[in-house]
Amino acid sequence: MKKKILIITTGGTISMKGSADGVVPSLTGKEILLLIPEIDTIADLTLYEFSNIPSPMMTPLKMFELSNIVTKMIDGFDGVVITHGTDTIEETSYMLFLTLQTKKPVIFTAAMRSNEETGLDGPRNLFNAIRVAANENSFDRGVMLAVNDEIFSVREVYKSSTSLTNAFDAPHYGILGMIDVDDIIFYRKSEFRYKFSVEKIETNVDMIKLCAGMSRKFIDYSVQTGAKGIVVEAFGRGNVNPEMQYGIIDAMEKGIPVVITSRVPNGRVLGIYGYEGGAKRLEENGAIMGYDLNGEKARLKLMVLLGLNKSVDEIRQIFKEDKG
Ligand code: ASP
Repeated sequence: MKKKILIITTGGTISMKGSADGVVPSLTGKEILLLIPEIDTIADLTLYEFSNIPSPMMTPLKMFELSNIVTKMIDGFDGVVITHGTDTIEETSYMLFLTLQTKKPVIFTAAMRSNEETGLDGPRNLFNAIRVAANENSFDRGVMLAVNDEIFSVREVYKSSTSLTNAFDAPHYGILGMIDVDDIIFYRKSEFRYKFSVEKIETNVDMIKLCAGMSRKFIDYSVQTGAKGIVVEAFGRGNVNPEMQYGIIDAMEKGIPVVITSRVPNGRVLGIYGYEGGAKRLEENGAIMGYDLNGEKARLKLMVLLGLNKSVDEIRQIFKEDKG
């Protein structure tokens, strides 16, 4: 019997075409499905059109709403496929990774080429994502991304090219599996798995990226404008310049949790360096280490934990136990 798969469309390049203004969202969910001639052979499909937006317009609240829709609808299906723009697919998929309780496959997919270009990757990616969602072995692997014939854990993946069809990568971890013409082959399971049961999220969380000679004015502004949490994308092992260190300490003295991540794509932040601004000093003063979680994902996790009314100490402990 064919598996029942729910397809949720949100927009992104997979739905885009050229216009007088440039490439913009235009195809409906049904029109996207029509791009795949063999669509009916793989699964029994139901379409739900959530939105048709470019993914820079996605917000944490919309991500959370999408998660709640999956939770409400999943019982009637064997798996879910979500189409999304690649620009923020990491974040939306990670929000679902954090908040969904289901063990059924939830697979994100996307396109790098709009429907104006030759050699479309969107229809192939969607076709493959449906095959992954309908596959017996996809159960209990966390939310996954299926693109370019590869399967990633959304906890581990990031967008590494602005234009190539192999735009996603998970160095350090690697792919979970691959999608061949005859079979879906899994190589491993991700060790990361969180299931926070959340009724609301705290969206008032800022993220500040460091560059050499950074002024503390940005963190001061966050504090003055009432941020409930701040994520700092620091240098290397989680270090900042002295001026930022004092900005971070002042924010923490006001009870605002500050999570330290790194602007370097791979590796963990850790309190090793003890000079002024070093991550060891930040940690000793109460900063929360985000370990190898990137800034965008740490921000969403902080929104979820603040939504659960966790204290700063509890947040620190959860980041530590989860290893990011
Ligand atoms: N700008 C597009 C979006 O994220 C890019 C894409 O879908 O690949 O909506």
